[in-house]
Order: sequence, then C-alpha cells, then structure tokens
Amino acid sequence: MSAAKYIFVTGGVTSSLGKGIISASLAKLLQARGYKVTIQKFDPYINVDPGTLNPYEHGECYVTNDGAETDLDLGHYERFLNVPTSQANNVTTGRIYQTVINKEREGAFLGKTVQIIPHITDEIKRRMLLLGETGEYEIVITEIGGTVGDIESLPYVETVRQLKWELGSSCLSIHLTLIPYLAAAGELKTKPTQHSVKALLELGVQPDILVCRTEHSITSEIRRKIALFCNVNVNAVIESIDAETIYDVPILMYKEQLDKVVLNKLKLPLQHEPELEQWKIFLGKLKNPVNEVKIGLVGKYIELKDAYKSINEAIIHAGVANECRVKLEWIHSEKIDKENVQSRLNGLNGILVAPGFGDRGIEGKISAIQYARENNIPFFGICLGMQCAVIEFGRNILGWTDAHSTEMSPNTKHAVIDFMEEQKKITKKGGTMRLGEYSCNLVKGSRAAAVYGKSKISERHRHRYEFNNKFLKDYEDAGMFASGINPDGNLVEIVELKNHPWFVGVQFHPEYKSTVENPHPLFVKFIRAAMDKSKQVV
Ligand code: GLN
Repeated sequence: MSAAKYIFVTGGVTSSLGKGIISASLAKLLQARGYKVTIQKFDPYINVDPGTLNPYEHGECYVTNDGAETDLDLGHYERFLNVPTSQANNVTTGRIYQTVINKEREGAFLGKTVQIIPHITDEIKRRMLLLGETGEYEIVITEIGGTVGDIESLPYVETVRQLKWELGSSCLSIHLTLIPYLAAAGELKTKPTQHSVKALLELGVQPDILVCRTEHSITSEIRRKIALFCNVNVNAVIESIDAETIYDVPILMYKEQLDKVVLNKLKLPLQHEPELEQWKIFLGKLKNPVNEVKIGLVGKYIELKDAYKSINEAIIHAGVANECRVKLEWIHSEKIDKENVQSRLNGLNGILVAPGFGDRGIEGKISAIQYARENNIPFFGICLGMQCAVIEFGRNILGWTDAHSTEMSPNTKHAVIDFMEEQKKITKKGGTMRLGEYSCNLVKGSRAAAVYGKSKISERHRHRYEFNNKFLKDYEDAGMFASGINPDGNLVEIVELKNHPWFVGVQFHPEYKSTVENPHPLFVKFIRAAMDKSKQVV
C-alpha cells in the first residue's frame, strides 16, 4: 500500500455547495504548509468524459495538458494549486464501466459473474489510489461528484467505505452539507445535515469532518449540536460561509483551521504555518483595484456563466495583475447583428469573442469582430473566436463574401477554416478533437512574441478545424499575419493585425493555463490594451 494519505470529499443535502472550491482550498492550505497535494474528481455520470456534454448541462469542458476533457472543477484545482492535472485526475462512471466491460470481453475475470461489488468498486478503488502510488504526492484529495443518496453515487461511497477500512488513519472523509437559514423562524437549521450524515452512515461511512455551507455564521451552540448528532468532534464542524469571491475560501478555511484538523486526523505534522503571502497580495489587489475597464464577452452560452468559467477566471487573474477591476459584460452573440452592433458594443474597452461549436450566433460574433477591427478596440479571439476573425477578414477585407468555416458551410469555395486531413477519417465524436498541449513557434517581432517574451510556447487545444494554409499568402498580403505556428503540422495557431492597437486571435485555449500565481500573459496584455483604450475614451 502506498504511503500517500487520502481525503475523500462527499456532498449532501443539495448540489452546488462548492465541493470543488472547498477541495481546492484545503489543497491550497496543505500545499502552503509544504505538502505535495493533488486533487481528483470522480463523477457519477455514464458519459465516458464530459467532452460530449452540452455546456448547458455541465458548464465548461476543461482540458488538461495530456488532452483529457474534464469537469470544470479541475480548472479550479489548477488555478488554486498552480500544478497541472492529467487524465488520471478525472474519472467518470462511464470510464469505470468501460474499463471493466473491456476486461470482461478480454476474459480477464475467468468466468466469474461481473458485479458492482467487487468488480466496479475494485476499479474505482484502483483509480482512487493511482495518483497516490506514483510517489509524486503526499496527499490525494478525491472529490466525489453528485450528492449522497443519489443512486449513481452508491458505488463511490461504497468504495470509500472499503478504503476507510483498509487504510485506517491514512485516510479521512469530509462531508459537505448545507445549514439553511429559515427567514420566517429566524433560525439556522441543522436537521438536513443530520439527515445527510445519517444517509452516509447507512452506507457505512462515518464522516470525520463536516464542512457546513451557510449564509450566516454558525454559533458554537449549533456546532455542538451538529457534533453531538453526527458523531464528530466540535472542532471538526467547519463553517463555510458564503464568500465575496472563491479566492477568499482558502483564507476562510484557514481561519476555521480545516487544514490543522485534517493534518491532526491524518497524523501528519503541521510543519509550518501556511505560506499565503502571495495569495493575500492577490486578494488585496483583487479587492482594491486602481483602474477599471469594461470588457465585452461575446458568446452563445451567456445565460450560463459556467460555460466560460476558465475565461472568466483568467480575466480576473489578468485584472489583478494590472490592479484593474474588469467589468465583464456578457453579450449574447445571437442578439448582435450588423444594424445593432454599434449600440450593443458601444463603450467597451475590449472585446473577447469566445470559443464554441456550431452555427448558432456565428454571424453576431463576426459582426462584433468587424466592429472591433474597424474601431480600433482591443480584440481577443479564442478558438472559434479566432476562426471568426479569419472569416471576417476574408469577407470584409479580401472581399470573399462566402468566406466561412466548413463546420458551418461545408461547400463554400472560400473555406478559410477547414477540417484537418487526419481528422477526416474519424467518425466517432468523443475525444476525437485536437486535444491538449501542442507547441507553437512565435514569429520574431510579432505582438505574440512580445506578449510571451519568448519564441516557443505550448498551449492547450480543443477543436477540429484549422486555418486553411491555402489562403495564408492572401491574408498576409492584406495585413493579417500568422504569428504563431505549430512546427509539426505547420498549423496556424495565432493571427494578428499589424495596423491595430491589439487584435489577436488564438486557435488554442490560453484560459486553461491561467492561475492565481501565473496569470496568462495574453489575458494580462489584453487587459492592459483595454486600459489604454479606456484612457483614450475619457
Ligand atoms: N468549433 C471550432 C472547431 O472545432 C472551434 C472549437 C472551439 O472554439 N473550442 O474547430
């Protein structure tokens, strides 16, 4: 058995209590005390990965360096810890069953009846322990998606029960619950928490620590009551009060001594007080900005902000780096057209056109880009946003009115964005995109090279279509340059305009790599350009 310690985080009462943020905050505190920590998420749905899920269902699909399409919580883990995650950090029920069924087909179970216990739970267990066995981490935090009591969560909770038995004091379980406030009674209520813990106990798991999400501070009397009913120590009843920003949560958890309680229970030394100086400086700047800019985010999932989670956070990081409050205006691309674009985008200091798939809202994105280009407004296009910039330039500068991507217009003569040859053979949907980290050479003297301050970068991808090199010369002759090229496939990764204050489109997703410690240079410089623009306005 490995020497790593394991922490399991389950949730009760309702979803959306912030398990991901609590897990990331605890990990941050343990890391700040000198421990090597990682976090993984086990999701109880049957999809093999969230790559095929509509953002309306599940928010953004996050992508790791090694090309895993994952739950958006992994983005929080990376942003808080500044350590990359991988394929192994996100596992779904679909993946577990796929592995077990494949093994069954290979005859690996030697004629046995294949069952949830032990075969599915063994596979869950194997994957839960995997990262701890690499020797890279001292503590592995496992967040279990869903809510205790869901049919789908049962095999996971059962595996936690088995592991608690096998690992003894090398593991512990944290249960997140809700303490609702009943306005009519003027009281915080503990009963849902008691019920939730009872549901866990029925499955054989006694939580060691309860993290109680609440809108109002919980009194010591309430803590004692919860401790009494749920068989935990009073100091293991942790308050998780609503915070102004998710970046406050590590500090709040520190005040509640969550890290201390965890380390004591795992019989690990406290080492030193958490080193949170940088984090506090970040928070200070976040809360006390000196400047302000207004950025328009043009996308088609505007109703659901989780669909652009990493972009939102990368903008926050970049704002802090510039000591600037970024007021983000969410603009629905379907609601923009040639006639209203001026009135809708008026007053913005920068325009970011978001990634996406499919036809919906595409013309609105193109109109927004034309507006940014013609009015010298800083423009940042990400993935589909970059592709739209290429289409816009093709139509309005090169005069090809049918310029389009073959994703939306398969038979256009000016397929300026086209399907990559090697992708044509693929008929399956899941995991068939250009995914994960690819290298990119930056052209000397370009804006991109200046932004990054180096000549070779690598960034994460998630797309099928590419700039069509057949048209590159026309574009460059007319003023749109390819300033970043993937050396292996000669693929255009970055386009930019020379005669514009800041016009950059990237085929990759820089937002996935932005962290509190390392805000992404493209976002930082985009916000800087928007600040310059805002000074021109006044
Ligand atoms: N739909 C485009 C493609 O597949 C862009 C994808 C994206 O924006 N992530 O190439």
